[in-house]
Amino acid sequence: MNIYDTIIIGAGHNGLVAAAYLAKQGKKVLVLERRDIVGGQVVTESFGDGFTVDSLHAGGTLRPDIIKDLNLASFGLVVDSVRKPFISLQPDSNHLVLDANPAKAVESIKRFSEKDAANWIPFLNFMDKVTRFIHAANETIMPRLPKGFNFSEGVDLAKMGINLRMMGGADMMKIIRGIPMTADEFVDEWFESDVVKAAIASLGIHGFTLGVFGAGTGYTLMHNWANRGGLSNVSAQGGVGKITEALASAVKSFSGEIRTGAEVKRILVDTFTCKGVVLTNGEEISAKNIISAADPKHTFLNLVGAVNLPPELVWNVQSIKMRGSVAKVHLLVDNIDAVVAGATHASPLPATFVIAPSIKYLEQAYDAAKYHSISEKPYLEVTTSGNVVSVHFQFAAYKLKDGDWKTEGAKVEKVAIETLAEYFPNLKSSIVNTKTITPLDMEQTYGLTEGDLNHGQIMLDQFMFMRPIPGWSNHKTPIDNLYLCGSGVHGGGGISGASGWNVVKVLK
Ligand SMILES: Cc1cc2nc3c(=O)[nH]c(=O)nc-3n(C[C@H](O)[C@H](O)[C@H](O)COP(=O)(O)OP(=O)(O)OC[C@H]3O[C@@H](n4cnc5c(N)ncnc54)[C@H](O)[C@@H]3O)c2cc1C
Repeated sequence: MNIYDTIIIGAGHNGLVAAAYLAKQGKKVLVLERRDIVGGQVVTESFGDGFTVDSLHAGGTLRPDIIKDLNLASFGLVVDSVRKPFISLQPDSNHLVLDANPAKAVESIKRFSEKDAANWIPFLNFMDKVTRFIHAANETIMPRLPKGFNFSEGVDLAKMGINLRMMGGADMMKIIRGIPMTADEFVDEWFESDVVKAAIASLGIHGFTLGVFGAGTGYTLMHNWANRGGLSNVSAQGGVGKITEALASAVKSFSGEIRTGAEVKRILVDTFTCKGVVLTNGEEISAKNIISAADPKHTFLNLVGAVNLPPELVWNVQSIKMRGSVAKVHLLVDNIDAVVAGATHASPLPATFVIAPSIKYLEQAYDAAKYHSISEKPYLEVTTSGNVVSVHFQFAAYKLKDGDWKTEGAKVEKVAIETLAEYFPNLKSSIVNTKTITPLDMEQTYGLTEGDLNHGQIMLDQFMFMRPIPGWSNHKTPIDNLYLCGSGVHGGGGISGASGWNVVKVLK
């Protein structure tokens, strides 16, 4: 049997970040991925001729410090320097264009409110501070409250607090107050136009099963803004798959091993100590440490097994709220320029478009998730790449009250196309192929329990020191030598790579 220093379960970006840092330190590292390709949710895949897309997470990039540490540029990663305009499409074609150039955005906002236009640049300055705070928080190892914390965790926490304090009293208070607020309240403190408010508030629900009137969507708005560095994503050239390809190349360059098509069936545990893993083909592989980059529910309940865990922990893990409600619809069209020009009359490609015309529209879209169904009037975020229109669809509840996901994917696709056709009149006649990814596909194909993109909802009772569960927020587990590093741990959610990076600090 091969003996590794560390086995990492899952080659999502977090697993690969952890693997690359450990391999760089000279550790013997093996990454095991159940799919035939690496990347997890950060993948660019082909669904047919000319139909290649970022299948799930569209755009985005890792933390710059990780890119630099791992020298990912030398492995082909090029991050765009230009952020796309964020365009909130309106039924009357009076679209709100939030360009990355603040002066241009101000001009567009003026058409909705002079007061909001005057507040745009102060708001951007405040959100820059928010971004700095969230990045500082994300690189902090959370103490195991209520079990207490050790000296170094106390120091880290103090650094995070100092970082917050350095923002100045007024902004510090604004950030603290913003955390439990609703996204609606958060934007209401800055803006008066419903159109402007809804465009920004949509970020508070993007990827989460929450409505803009839900407590804590102030925080999720800040989380998504910080991860993107703004309203729209900056992107890796060639698609998000280039990020995880570069990470995989980095792992291999430091002599780390990656095996795809290698699903872990069980983590081998002997009296609260893990010894290795068993694959679905029966192969056993030993290691001193195991890091799971898969979600905590899957890791504890399926891979470790309740029988090997303290009953209280099993109950806590069973209670983690996994509430997938995102679907993805990709449309291959024969004339992307005509499709986009039909909506904008100016064809500002590439752009990020949102269908989020009002605060009420967003909250009503969420009602469907509350009642376990599919929004008839969904919140959509639309990106384009080549001849593909990619639609992020909310809400489509993983647990459906009526019907099931074997048939309801067709409904999501129809609603997405009908909704978009109201804004893009040339769309329908241009579609030549489609690919819809339902919440069930997210679970079965991409390994996300209940289709939850963040490996557990980011909400007030599941964030920071309560992530993944209270008492186990520092990547460690009650099983000696077993650690967690996926998005279900603090620092995770989004593709910054923070939780993959943090586990390496804990392992030292
Ligand atoms: C449509 C969509 C839009 C999103 N938009 C945003 C956004 O705007 N902002 C934001 O913050 N986040 C967003 N996200 C979420 C973000 O993409 C994820 O949080 C992040 O990619 C998770 O990365 P990860 O490495 O932690 O896990 P994953 O990418 O989920 O990787 C986990 C890996 O583990 C593998 N695995 C699981 N079980 C096993 C096993 N038993 N054996 C071997 N391998 C296993 C899986 O196959 C997978 O490759 C979005 C996600 C989606 C799907």
